[in-house]
Amino acid sequence: MIYLKTDEEIELMRQSNILVGKTLGEIAKWIQPGITTLKLDEIAEQYIRDNGGVPGFKGYGGFPSTLCISENDKVVHGFPSKYELKDGDIISVDCGVVLNGFNGDSAYTFPVGEVSDEVLLLLKTTKESLYKGIAQAMPGKRIGDISSAIQDYCQSRGYSVVRELCGHGIGKKLHEDPEVPNYGKKGSGPLLRNGMCIAIEPMINLGVKNVFIEKDGWTVRTKDAKPSAHFEHTIAIRKDGADILSTFEFIENVLGNKSI
Ligand code: MG
Ligand code: MG
Repeated sequence: MIYLKTDEEIELMRQSNILVGKTLGEIAKWIQPGITTLKLDEIAEQYIRDNGGVPGFKGYGGFPSTLCISENDKVVHGFPSKYELKDGDIISVDCGVVLNGFNGDSAYTFPVGEVSDEVLLLLKTTKESLYKGIAQAMPGKRIGDISSAIQDYCQSRGYSVVRELCGHGIGKKLHEDPEVPNYGKKGSGPLLRNGMCIAIEPMINLGVKNVFIEKDGWTVRTKDAKPSAHFEHTIAIRKDGADILSTFEFIENVLGNKSI
């Protein structure tokens, strides 16, 4: 069941997603070698609550934290921990907020200190593929148009697309229909309609596409231990195309020329 949102509901979703963007911007100020990912999680939770929101992931399906923080070969759903960031790491930070009854959901992969050109290019390509997907998000197209745009962009550059996880509809629930895979065929899948809200979130690997889940039941890692990147926006589909409800503006104001 796909829930189409009214204009008023889309504005509420924008507010949730702006708080997600501001929270990630707050985290961006603290990301540096030596800080623990647990500390980043504490900062995010405090910031969300101070701004009237509730962390969207904490307690969701038993997830323990406000942020999913996935370093290096972790793809998604990493637990914040006592791990201290070090120069050359990358971390994918995924943040969810509930505000006024609606969910926001967005993710960004940050470089920590000096990161190799090879890995920076993975990050850039993954972010670019997100916008290639978003460019397909308009009434009359299908989910598969988004999926294939992401897949083609990344695979033609030598990267691989994680199959086991995908984007999703979003609204009063964090995960609604439809699923939004990052691979697929043009012209296939559910029809896109005005008022649909979806999270598009390519998870792209430097090496093989294969992943496994750790014993904690959550953390997804690449099988070959090579790095993986993750960028996510929540968007609304409107008559004239995608309205991006989440934002990287607050992150990139902090990162400046270190922006991906
Ligand atoms: Mg997310
Ligand atoms: Mg999501």
